[in-house]
Amino acid sequence: MSAAPSPPASPPESDSKTVIGIAFGNTNSSIAYTSPDGKAEVIANEEGDRQIPSVLSYIGSEEYHGAQAKSHLVRNAKNTVCYFRDFLGKSFASIDPTNSHTSAHPVDVGGTTSFNLQQTEDETATPVSISEITTRHLLRLKDSASDFLGSKIGGAVITVPTDFTDAQRSALIAAAKAADLEVLQIIHEPVAACLAYDARNNTIPTDKTILVVDLGGTRCDAAVVSSRGGMYTIIATAHDYELGGLQLDQVLVDHFAKEFLKRNKVDPREDARSLAKLKLEAEGTKRTLSLGNSATISIESLAGGYDFHSTVNRLRYEMLAKKVFDQIVGLAESVVTKAELDLLDIDEVILSGGTSHTPKIASRLAQIFPVTTQINAPATSAVALNPSELSARGAAIQASLIAEFDQEDIEQSTHPAVTVAPHLVKSVGVVIDGADDSFQTLLEAQTAVPARRTAQFIVPNGGDVIVKICEGVREIVVSKPEAKPNGVKDDDDSEEEEEEEADVRNRVFKVERVVAEAAVRGVEKGSKIEVTLNVGSDLALSVAARVVGGQQGARGTVEG
Ligand code: ATP
Repeated sequence: MSAAPSPPASPPESDSKTVIGIAFGNTNSSIAYTSPDGKAEVIANEEGDRQIPSVLSYIGSEEYHGAQAKSHLVRNAKNTVCYFRDFLGKSFASIDPTNSHTSAHPVDVGGTTSFNLQQTEDETATPVSISEITTRHLLRLKDSASDFLGSKIGGAVITVPTDFTDAQRSALIAAAKAADLEVLQIIHEPVAACLAYDARNNTIPTDKTILVVDLGGTRCDAAVVSSRGGMYTIIATAHDYELGGLQLDQVLVDHFAKEFLKRNKVDPREDARSLAKLKLEAEGTKRTLSLGNSATISIESLAGGYDFHSTVNRLRYEMLAKKVFDQIVGLAESVVTKAELDLLDIDEVILSGGTSHTPKIASRLAQIFPVTTQINAPATSAVALNPSELSARGAAIQASLIAEFDQEDIEQSTHPAVTVAPHLVKSVGVVIDGADDSFQTLLEAQTAVPARRTAQFIVPNGGDVIVKICEGVREIVVSKPEAKPNGVKDDDDSEEEEEEEADVRNRVFKVERVVAEAAVRGVEKGSKIEVTLNVGSDLALSVAARVVGGQQGARGTVEG
């Protein structure tokens, strides 16, 4: 983790808008800004937290927010609102209140989700709508950003999950407006994560297919994103609303509760306050286990007047949590299948969200991908970004990119339609007779159009060269591993039973259809031919082939 950034030396100039990125999660929210040198930094609130629990709590007429509010879950649960983001913009009948059992419970007020809260010194509870709760939360985030940056906030890009509906988007924009916060754009969390990584290099990212696995507190989301020429397209998504950090907390809660029960004949899970204490501490223990090999837990007067002290090591925890890890790996595999891709097609995996700090999850995912797939998580890459910060960072980068857009463009960009660009269904590439005869992909499937690519090929023998423009398909070729020479054994091969080695799987591109041919005549031996493909937004393809440094060439157009 990097140190909290210090506030910028001087407030931004008054004529440029100060814009921020907000990651609005069910469990935590974070805010980020982009410094003048283009680096996205996550801002700490007044308490020094960069992961700000999305929690509000009320005692008398006081409102508490973030970590302070979360600590009230033990003594003031029914006046503490948690895990509310996914309720926004939904009717009461369609929400799942399971995660609210140990905090303020949602109530139905004319079909709208609300919470009955005591917000004054007298003991009367009044309903507060989900929109109002969201407004109060966003207001606190906005004020923290404004205090830190020393200027008024001119707008924000907010990240949401890919299954956020239009009604939820509208409710979020309205709630932000009530907090005097202009929503510049709403972007999807996995795209924000890709942006956060790609913005590090300050160049247009190479074409690649990325799997983003977002592991939060209450849910896990996975998305396959294709990045082509700096444009991101979401190809497939998968969600599990009963899988997340809370399930891992529960594993430890059950483990410690059983130990406590054995020692003291009292089950701390049977008393609401004891359970709340155990949950809070188990979460801390879980986080410690992401960094070290063992963690201790210490709770005074946990239940029945007994204190509780115990230790758990990482190996034990990983065994207890195996089922949850299996489900996460299953979710990642399922979204790749849903995208009609193979695991070999994934160039990069980005682990996002707080639960992605768990080393075993990263190593389990690394096991299912080829070694060439980059796994971006703290446990598998020394240069990985903090997974808890990816959404906010990506949102801040996007905010700085669009800050100067006109109002009309901004309004359009909050509408999802503009993010769905037409794209190629098949890969397009060339086969050059006389050079390397294999299919060379120039534009991969899922490339958003219009698009243009140029590549050069050496023609060793010269003469008349035929450039074939083809559509290609990706195939997975399975072969047996090369037999080892007699007598050579791996160190781990046992003498008696040699495990059969797994098949070798490789991606190959094959020509499915030749769509055009161009002839370049009289090419000198060893010259280079440059081929340029241009696909218009109507999918019409134009081709130009020329000899580098020569006069010869050919060009043509194929209807889309
Ligand atoms: P959601 O919307 O799914 O509820 P979120 O996006 O609001 O999630 P995140 O901050 O991404 O929330 O994830 C919160 C979860 O991450 C919590 O369960 C928390 O315990 C877990 N977490 C945070 N840090 C670590 C860590 N170092 N090791 C393991 N888990 C962690």
